[in-house]
Amino acid sequence: MSEPLDLTERRFQGIPVSPGIARGSVWLQRPEDETVPHYEVKLEQTDTEVSRLEGALLNTRLQIQELQQRIADSIGSADASIFDAHLLVVEDRTLLDEVVRTIRKEQLNAESVFASVANRYAKSLAEIDDPYLRERAIDIHDVCRRVVRNLMGCKTRELPTSGEPRILIAHNLTPSDTAQLNRDTILGFATDVGSRTSHTAIMARSLNIPAVVALHDLSLAVSTGNRLLLDGYHGLAILNPSEATLKEYAELERQKGQVERDLVCLRETECKTIDGKHIQLSANIEMPRDVENVLKSGAVGVGLFRTEFLYLNSEELPSEETQFEAYRSVAANLAPAPVVIRTLDMGGDKVMASMNLPQELNPFLGWRAIRFCLERVDVFKTQLRAILRASAHGKVRLMYPMISGVEEVRRANELLHECQMELAAEGHLFDPAMEVGVMIEIPSAAVVADLLAPEVDFFSIGTNDLIQYTLAVDRLNERIAYLYQPTHSAILRLIKTVVDAAHAHGVAVGVCGEMAGEVALTPLLLGLGVDALSAGTALVPRVKSAVQSLTLLECKALAEAALKMDSAKEIYAACEAVGQERYPDLL
Ligand code: PEP
Ligand code: MG
Repeated sequence: MSEPLDLTERRFQGIPVSPGIARGSVWLQRPEDETVPHYEVKLEQTDTEVSRLEGALLNTRLQIQELQQRIADSIGSADASIFDAHLLVVEDRTLLDEVVRTIRKEQLNAESVFASVANRYAKSLAEIDDPYLRERAIDIHDVCRRVVRNLMGCKTRELPTSGEPRILIAHNLTPSDTAQLNRDTILGFATDVGSRTSHTAIMARSLNIPAVVALHDLSLAVSTGNRLLLDGYHGLAILNPSEATLKEYAELERQKGQVERDLVCLRETECKTIDGKHIQLSANIEMPRDVENVLKSGAVGVGLFRTEFLYLNSEELPSEETQFEAYRSVAANLAPAPVVIRTLDMGGDKVMASMNLPQELNPFLGWRAIRFCLERVDVFKTQLRAILRASAHGKVRLMYPMISGVEEVRRANELLHECQMELAAEGHLFDPAMEVGVMIEIPSAAVVADLLAPEVDFFSIGTNDLIQYTLAVDRLNERIAYLYQPTHSAILRLIKTVVDAAHAHGVAVGVCGEMAGEVALTPLLLGLGVDALSAGTALVPRVKSAVQSLTLLECKALAEAALKMDSAKEIYAACEAVGQERYPDLL
């Protein structure tokens, strides 16, 4: 007799990262769905496996040649020649013969054999004490990933795109997985690992999908088809919710719905404190399609356009035309409100799979963002040209990410200047007075804010990274999430240093990290003197309501007192107390 189904309610506590309630059946995404498939085939199927392999090799060769051509066109054939080595791998008869022999002999699928033979080759080359051969090992890894992906016929892992809407449960989701989620088929998602400031979480808020992360072993406890309720306000996943739980949640949804409806009325109102301090309140976006939500939220333009999401799910680097169209549409739809376009901030948890960049031990500290762009001038200039051209169609501002010191800004501006000259010579229109700013998200930049200020038009403090780098707390690691403290005294002091340096040079300073959307901290940021806030579109109305309920005077008193306190918890409690008094419904 089969086991009776266990339908008792079970609760799992995690970290809430995107508000809302979702209830429905589970779609379970297992980690093994991502791995290279391994299966036996019948003897008569081995020919099919070999032809699948040949097809994938042909595709890979074409992709590499295309990439090579593009690089030759943009930066010259010397740089493009690095791909000759990749082409040699797909034409390496010793390797390919061994793969074909093994498919026939072991009767295994092509993906599995290709990956294991190629990895063995790469491993033996990597062990030889010769820099040239070690490079070849990296080439083999790169090409192997491409071939396997072509064999699998998929660019990314499979997510439901049609049928009954489901709650997605996975061990982990990457930001690019999340960027592809379709609101019509995904009611919400929950993962075993994750944190509030991961780009997966940021993306969930942007898509307005309820989400809970850091649920430990939820993915082992559920199966596809189970009934689940996801509480994105309190970070709960409730398996087999009882009638009483469903009723309780219906009431919670009613209450939350009322608060949201009240906030809609603020859309056309100005974002200023009771005593008249205007705060520039704008929105963070990841895709051009987010513009609709910006308009609905009542934000004044965009304070952070994370352009890397245009690259992440793309098989190849987006062209100047593709990017121009994306930036132009955002700028034109929001004009005359400003749009801050941040140049490519790839790296960390934002990985463009098709670029096959080398894996690093510390990706958040590695070859990423502006460091990558200043080396891959071809990629950077393509983007700068697209942004400049878009500046003729609205109020565009440009912002560099991950700036650590003055030299990087100067070099980036030199390249920007080169692009302006080229565009002018080609007869393209652009705004010659386009403002240029930098993100302050590396502690060194905050410390030398006085040196950076004369070089730029504005600062935007990226608290997500500023906190992780200052406190040495990986923003993705849920085990040490308790140490990720926005109200740590070091963070307060750095924000104050940046604001003071900016204001001494007549430079405006905003905050665009997740702190800007946390209403408990609005009085603190205002009190520390920031001029602008930029938050996810779903949070904008709440921030506006908070600002409108405060006086700058009380915010300043709070910041002054907080700067004298020595405990992050105490500072947080002091901020929350102000919020509790002024806007308890929002907390
Ligand atoms: C930040 O670091 O605060 C920020 C806004 O950038 P991102 O979250 O994209 O790293
Ligand atoms: Mg950042």
